[in-house]
Amino acid sequence: MDKPILLSTPHMGDRELEFVKEAFETNWIAPVGPHIDAFEQEFCERTGASNAAAVSSGTAALHLALQLVGIGYGDDVFCSTLTFAASANPITYLGAKPVFIDSDRTSWNMNPELLVAALAARDRIGKLPKAVVLVHLYGQSADIEPILQACDRYEVPLIEDAAEALGATYKGRSPGTFGRIGIYSFNGNKIITTSGGGMLVSDKPELVAKAKFLATQARDPAPHYQHSEIGYNYRLSNVLAGIGRGQLWVLSDRVAARRRNFEVYQQALGNLPGIEFMPEADFGHATRWLTCLTIDPKAFGVDREQVRLALANQQIEARPVWKPLHLQPVFADCECIGGFVAEELFTQGLCLPSGSNLTDEDLERVIDAIGTVYHSNRTTHLARHL
Ligand SMILES: *Cc1c(COP(=O)(O)O)cnc(C)c1O
Repeated sequence: MDKPILLSTPHMGDRELEFVKEAFETNWIAPVGPHIDAFEQEFCERTGASNAAAVSSGTAALHLALQLVGIGYGDDVFCSTLTFAASANPITYLGAKPVFIDSDRTSWNMNPELLVAALAARDRIGKLPKAVVLVHLYGQSADIEPILQACDRYEVPLIEDAAEALGATYKGRSPGTFGRIGIYSFNGNKIITTSGGGMLVSDKPELVAKAKFLATQARDPAPHYQHSEIGYNYRLSNVLAGIGRGQLWVLSDRVAARRRNFEVYQQALGNLPGIEFMPEADFGHATRWLTCLTIDPKAFGVDREQVRLALANQQIEARPVWKPLHLQPVFADCECIGGFVAEELFTQGLCLPSGSNLTDEDLERVIDAIGTVYHSNRTTHLARHL
């Protein structure tokens, strides 16, 4: 039996365990401690963010972000539709409602023209959304500038979900550091991981201070336990922050390895009819967190799902591109602006194994498996015509 090749697995460097040991030796086994402070500091240095709060997950960071910009019951929040459910779930935690926006084909992220038109239309009827959640998908930044300009024009705060885009750039800067608040994830499948964890960043120190306050049960400064607001238990563990420090150290290597995976796949498969790789927009540098491609069944002869199943048969884990949130049963009653592009990317899109720890043999196996589906289908197809 072949060894399984998974989509994206953790890849530790040389220092993580040292930092974890240090936490044990100093008994900082708590949701406070020196690794947390250092992780936040080093994260700011790496991304250019000015202030950061380390929290227990990307979802927690987004929940805090939405609360910090004042989202509440009955509000509308615009959000990319082609993304993971965690981009929109926290909107509903606050009693607000997502309104989804379709992707463009250049970056697969929120279409700026659709957003600009939607904001203008909402402005005319006096029903602007209370925030925009902009997702940077699969390691590639969205086209931030026109989106930020439109948000500024209508004074709608922009929240960036950069959970998948740590290490990417947009015009030389890190996505996640442009909007009012940005969030990142260190879940087990992300480009770097703390097993679970997240980061909230903002230019505004008071917002980050408030995030830390809410994340530690909203304790008022008093000798006894006093609370004037409802808080959460959302801080990151000092042990896990130690892992994060080690992982940040190797982030650039991880980006290079994932980009190399993409190049190897593209070289080998890019010429097959009907296969198109996720484009890299000219405004930035993508990490290729996951290598994604689309398969046009008419040209390729076999559809995405057949390819995925053929890979699964050989113990290779590939996954469909995110199912758009406007197609999810749980969001069935939410409005979506456009939607066709995201739907097509979902129907035809496939994410290949993309870990930074894949070997050349692993890549070769994936490539051979896809080549085999294509060629065996062509052979049967030709045979039928003889
Ligand atoms: C992973 C992810 C999240 C959630 O992060 P967690 O740390 O898993 O809570 C949010 N948005 C996107 C786009 C993600 O990929």
